[in-house]
Amino acid sequence: MNPKQKKNRKKQLLAKYGNKCWWCCESFDEKDLTLDHLLPKSKGGSDCLENLRLACLECNQERGNSLFPPSRCVKRK
Ligand SMILES: [Zn+2]
Repeated sequence: MNPKQKKNRKKQLLAKYGNKCWWCCESFDEKDLTLDHLLPKSKGGSDCLENLRLACLECNQERGNSLFPPSRCVKRK
């Protein structure tokens, strides 16, 4: 994705999910939210909207290329 596409995706995700981290469900400033791939790109994940969620830096960094949610994730069982 080029920067313009990324910005576009982020806008779409913000409209869909609000300015919340998908994992820890906390609210963040737009600028503090990153695009996170549910299925990491390194594992063949695509850049389509269905595979993208907004994540805070902390969650995104902890997750890295993992297939699993970060420890901060509130949806984790
Ligand atoms: Zn988070």
